[in-house]
Amino acid sequence: MIECPLCGDTERSCFFRGVDHGINIQYWLCSTCGLVYQSPRMAQKQLAEFYASQYRTLLQGQAEPTPQALQTQNRRAAHLAQIVCGRSNVSPAYHLDIGCGGRALIAAIQEMSGCRSEGIEPDNAYRSYASSQGLTVYGSLDEWRRSAMGRPDLITMSHVLEHLVDPVGYLSSLRENILSPQAYLLVEVPNLYVHSSFEVAHNFAFASATLQAVVTKAGFRVLLLRKHGFPRALSPLYMTLLAQSLDGPLPEFGLRSSARCSTRVRRNLGRRLLNVERTLTKVITRVTHRDDPYLFK
Ligand SMILES: [Zn+2]
Repeated sequence: MIECPLCGDTERSCFFRGVDHGINIQYWLCSTCGLVYQSPRMAQKQLAEFYASQYRTLLQGQAEPTPQALQTQNRRAAHLAQIVCGRSNVSPAYHLDIGCGGRALIAAIQEMSGCRSEGIEPDNAYRSYASSQGLTVYGSLDEWRRSAMGRPDLITMSHVLEHLVDPVGYLSSLRENILSPQAYLLVEVPNLYVHSSFEVAHNFAFASATLQAVVTKAGFRVLLLRKHGFPRALSPLYMTLLAQSLDGPLPEFGLRSSARCSTRVRRNLGRRLLNVERTLTKVITRVTHRDDPYLFK
């Protein structure tokens, strides 16, 4: 029996079946906690090879960073840096960005806070690009630990958590073995209720309740959870969460079950609203550019 990676229960129902890049994928909805997770999925060894050399090519058609991907990363980074560094009580001294891509978030947080920042990027081409920009970037957390200059007081993970095999275990390990006491954690993930999100690389599709549950169970106190569409839409395609690590014994973990029954309904509604927004955007673009002879030909 397959156990839910969040609550451990085995009762579940099929939530989505489909094909992504020629690979059959299947997601399940946990009947107890409402977590949506992919099963079966790639083993850890397969995942390491996949992210080192295949993922970006699958995602964007080439291994090297594209101008469009870098532009999206830059705009997203500015937004995330503002969420962290815009808070008066958050002034990091040592920042680690896990899944740093082309280094955009490192640069944005360094610029706003002046802190020391390092990155971890498993993708070979993106790591080379980030290194060529003069930044210290490692291929894995183990590699970083061999050279670490202390304990970070801020870890950022933008569009990483949904790719992990065991998000609770990973975040718990960060809190216990990597982070300084009362360190900050910034996470951004696709929003299950709006984002298409089902793809071979995504082991999980989080809703706000399950995202908060994962972070809380790992020993963090949620400070902020913001749903937004930046930089792609007005509809809340994404969720950004800021949390702080707890010290000492953790409070007893309790699951909120309010979301699980309505998960399908909420996703259908969110996806429909996104389609309405996209249709309206096309109509408005056509109307506002109707006299432009170079468009829509
Ligand atoms: Zn569960």
